[in-house]
Amino acid sequence: MITSNNYTYFLTYDQTGEWDIELGETNLSYSLSKNELNVISEFKADKKMSFFKDSINVHHKVFHQEPADVRTALTAFLIEHLSDLGYGHPWYVRSDMFTKVEFDDMLNAAIKLIRERKAKARLNTSELTQVCETYKLNPEPCNDTGTSWQASCPSRRGHWIAISTESNTWGCGYCRKKGGINELAEWIEEIKLKSLT
Ligand SMILES: [Zn+2]
Repeated sequence: MITSNNYTYFLTYDQTGEWDIELGETNLSYSLSKNELNVISEFKADKKMSFFKDSINVHHKVFHQEPADVRTALTAFLIEHLSDLGYGHPWYVRSDMFTKVEFDDMLNAAIKLIRERKAKARLNTSELTQVCETYKLNPEPCNDTGTSWQASCPSRRGHWIAISTESNTWGCGYCRKKGGINELAEWIEEIKLKSLT
């Protein structure tokens, strides 16, 4: 753990990654001066997960107004931080500052934030995502702005195709297929015909 005088340890969480694999613990330390918060996150990979690397990141957050106290600042940081973890889910390990119940409250707020972002991104549809909808390929946005989507690959081999609503193009790295709306519709019809014969 970082023992620098400028940073104070405040929380440890563990998390799973993609496929629900336990990734390891992250220790968080903070330094707050007026409205500027710096947080160091030190990830220690689970011993069984030798292919994951330990890593250290610094997060910088500037508040519009000076936070009332350290807890207020760290609560705001944690909700945002937990909402950005991506795959898997985190859980409470230990903390000098927050109880497990308080951590779970922040986690719920983070999940709410993720849902709100998803709902907003889902509005940014395009002709391509609508084609995917029509063919029941379950299109889903995969970034906050909804410019990048994924959908089930028409090959039905259990992977995803990537869709850009900006360029209205799609691609599947596994099947080595890509194109625009026409190419997708043609390919789907081709697959349908094959399955009938
Ligand atoms: Zn494919």
